[in-house]
Amino acid sequence: MLLILNKNADTSEINIIKEKIYKMGFEVNEIKEINYHILSIIGDTTKIDPRIFEVYTAIDKVIFVQEPYKKANRLFHPNNTEINISNKIIGGNKISIIAGPCSVESHEQIITIAKALQMSGANFLRGGAFKPRTSPYSFQGLKMEGLELLKYAKQETGLPIVTEIMSTDYLDDYIENVDIIQVGARNMQNYELLKELGKINKPILLKRGLSSTIEELLMSAEYILLGGNDNVILCERGIRTFENYTRNTLDLSAIPAIKKLSHLPIIVDPSHATGMWWMVEPMALAAVAAGADGLMIEVHNDPENALSDGNQSIKPEKFKQLMEKLKLIAQAVGREM
Ligand code: PEP
Ligand code: MN
Repeated sequence: MLLILNKNADTSEINIIKEKIYKMGFEVNEIKEINYHILSIIGDTTKIDPRIFEVYTAIDKVIFVQEPYKKANRLFHPNNTEINISNKIIGGNKISIIAGPCSVESHEQIITIAKALQMSGANFLRGGAFKPRTSPYSFQGLKMEGLELLKYAKQETGLPIVTEIMSTDYLDDYIENVDIIQVGARNMQNYELLKELGKINKPILLKRGLSSTIEELLMSAEYILLGGNDNVILCERGIRTFENYTRNTLDLSAIPAIKKLSHLPIIVDPSHATGMWWMVEPMALAAVAAGADGLMIEVHNDPENALSDGNQSIKPEKFKQLMEKLKLIAQAVGREM
């Protein structure tokens, strides 16, 4: 952290500031040139609130050199985090594919889709049981019945399951039955929920908020990591921009940015990012080419009659073709499927 001093800063005030820094347990380096006068605080400044310095008249501005997150920061954890879920690794060389319907709708629906996905080589089955819908009049999910159906689909196919949690009401059921607990875009900044998920050791799939910056996403991951749960997977799912042709704008540049800033795995959801089934394939291919560790894709056997997000769901046959194309892209960028 750099404290930029005013040209006419009072020496006695500078000494008071230096004393304050020493008392906090840091070293300080004073740099004085013709055009600038700086106090550089040496040490881990993650926890310092800049306002404690901004109050001094001697200080013109405070500049952060270090990011405000520590546990999620690659600086302190240079190697990629690899998360092992039933011997499937997310964050390693292999691309992980999570696929399934937006919502679990019925026994027949989830089993039909799960079997088709397994045949095409998907690694995880997704499906919403508790659904965060914009309208309270829309289908809200089968709730606990949906969770039961997912468990059944897992038994039938062996595919580990991924489903969204919206509150801690059924946390024990999630811990017992769900392989990856998803935190949706709308709950990315539900800090009380994140803190509770930090206390468990189930993998958490944290989706980027609708209007959140990359730094805000990493700060949310920090909440979970700080509680002691190291198993966080990030997900880019598109953000709100002025463009309204697509449902959201897929921020592909978040992939290399997150790879540079953090050691956590990053996957991409091209379905919610675009909102259109025919855009899922090109965006999925682009995401893998850009370095994503995996994909989360909505697949439905009857999208025309889906209870949610049918328009952005691809059919199982299309998913199968996509898997073949993904193999070629993965190979081209030195990854495996
Ligand atoms: C979902 O994955 O079904 C979902 C609701 O996604 P998001 O939270 O990204 O909108
Ligand atoms: Mn959906």
